[in-house]
Amino acid sequence: LTPVPSDIEISRAQTPKPVDQLAEEIGLLPEELEAYGRSKAKVQLSLLDRLHTQPDGKLVLVAGITPTPLGEGKSTVTIGLVQALSAHLKLNSFACLRQPSQGPTFGVKGGAAGGGYAQVIPMEEFNLHLTGDIHAITAANNLVAAAIDARMLHEATQSDKALFNRLVPSVNGVRKFSPIQISRLRRLGINKIDPASLTLQEVSTFVRLDLDPSKITWQRVLDTNDRFLRKITVGQASTEKGQIRETGFDIAVASEIMAILALADSLEDMKNRLARMVVGTSRSGQPVTSRGPGGVSGALAVLMKDAIKPTLMQTLEGTPVFVHAGPFANIAHGNSSVLADKLALKLVGRDGFVVTEAGFGADIGMEKFFNIKCRASGLRPNVVVLVATVRALKMHGGGPNVSAGAPLPREYIDENLSLVAGGCHSNLRKQIQIADVFGVPVVVALNVFKTDTQAEIDLVCQLAKECGASDAVPCHHWAQGGRGSIELAQAVNEAASRPSNFQFLYNKEMPIVEKIRTIAQRVYGADDIELSPEAGAKIDYYNQQGYGTLPICMAKTHLSLSHMPDKKGAPTGFVLPIRDVRASIGAGFIYPLVGTMSTMPGLPTRPCFYDIDLDPVTEEITGLF
Ligand code: ADP
Repeated sequence: LTPVPSDIEISRAQTPKPVDQLAEEIGLLPEELEAYGRSKAKVQLSLLDRLHTQPDGKLVLVAGITPTPLGEGKSTVTIGLVQALSAHLKLNSFACLRQPSQGPTFGVKGGAAGGGYAQVIPMEEFNLHLTGDIHAITAANNLVAAAIDARMLHEATQSDKALFNRLVPSVNGVRKFSPIQISRLRRLGINKIDPASLTLQEVSTFVRLDLDPSKITWQRVLDTNDRFLRKITVGQASTEKGQIRETGFDIAVASEIMAILALADSLEDMKNRLARMVVGTSRSGQPVTSRGPGGVSGALAVLMKDAIKPTLMQTLEGTPVFVHAGPFANIAHGNSSVLADKLALKLVGRDGFVVTEAGFGADIGMEKFFNIKCRASGLRPNVVVLVATVRALKMHGGGPNVSAGAPLPREYIDENLSLVAGGCHSNLRKQIQIADVFGVPVVVALNVFKTDTQAEIDLVCQLAKECGASDAVPCHHWAQGGRGSIELAQAVNEAASRPSNFQFLYNKEMPIVEKIRTIAQRVYGADDIELSPEAGAKIDYYNQQGYGTLPICMAKTHLSLSHMPDKKGAPTGFVLPIRDVRASIGAGFIYPLVGTMSTMPGLPTRPCFYDIDLDPVTEEITGLF
């Protein structure tokens, strides 16, 4: 329809096929499906065993140039591309998408189900609770937080003997260590299994984690942009006996448990990762893991056992979609789950396509997809689709700033070939070169907006090829659905038939500092890096603890290739400051902080929820986008 109706109107106008019908079409057995309502279902991981001899399909990564704050349409391109591959090229295809956080859905950016005629439906189910995975993460994360504070209270207020009696209770007159306690004793170097044989010193070492309250890194989480929880004081009731400390909340998708969900490749792997999470440091300087506070890691696995199964949904044109995990793209790696990709690759078979999306620009999401997710999964991409828009290219070519909620300046509405060319020669060229470093063919997808002129579209496609893209095509999926992306589907199919010489950017054995420097110089274009004394000390500590071979997950602004959000294009001549370095040991990466990163967004003066409403008679939702 012209004009294109709102996202929610389009979504509602299409009745999704029943999920069991979709499942049958893609080759799932009824017992491999756990339906949640009519149009979404979780898929059992046993499918991987059943299909293990089936060859994998081809893996396509959708990344983007450095975006404006409005987003340039990576999700819509991902969905438009699978719609075109499956409905128009008749190739099996699957999209693997991140589950959105409620933060942006009710805050500034809106949902993430795509848009226009390239959407996952029902979009309200996709954007809201889905199948409860984020709630499970919130529950698991906050159980760890509660365990930490309760354990500190108990250690502060009880003698060694009282703690011991409670931690190792007597059952029928016999005291026995639990398996988790025996493994803790072993880690402490105490090889005794009879509780009565422990010396007083050993009892004390065993019962006290001795967490340093000023070095607890674990925070509570909530899936709401609630800025007033960024810093809080806990323990103020008299029952907590003065155990007051400052802590804070992060948005739920920033929890390390979300990053673990995205990287785990089996239930066992997830369980092991949950047990390795470091929650703080003891007074003697040793890392304390989630096994520590009462061995909470087993309970976390219980809370997460359903979340590990990807959720099956469909596009407006009935193409299958897995929605699974949505880690933050700065302090975590910003990619959907390894398990969804693996399941989908088996389901599409040798000639099929799995299209997945990496958060932010290629310098961030794609770099992490390759160096972190591909390392964890062993999967190798065949093609990168690099999404560009005329508006973002104009911004990189020198156009005025673009901000969410404000009208677009004139330059972005009228034709302006010199701004477009400036953006192609700077940011687009650099992002193509980054994909080249990894040896994967790049197809540039120009996501066309109604204000783009034919001359602008032609210029982008011509310059993208001159800058090294295998191909560059305009896409109209937002206004036309899959048929608007047939050219892109053909270009991707063609590029996937060429060899991909995928290689990692760095060897994981390289020293941490060298890995950071390599990303800064070869991906961002920095001259060098500058470590703060705090960052240097943390790196020494991580090396001592044996974490030196973990990959790097840079926490940098997505609004520039550099660390300075207002420097557009392809900045050069800068030194990247590394303010601090942190670690997500369970997820399995070290994350250097370039500048300050907010892990709890705030609400703007006029948030998206102003427009969201429910008709109590029809139960129709309005205002979601
Ligand atoms: P990203 O995944 O890169 O953040 P999205 O695909 O979520 O971007 O798109 C951001 C917003 O822009 C969405 O609301 C989407 O509906 C809208 N959008 C995307 N492409 C177009 C287009 N070609 N024309 C108009 N609106 C678009």
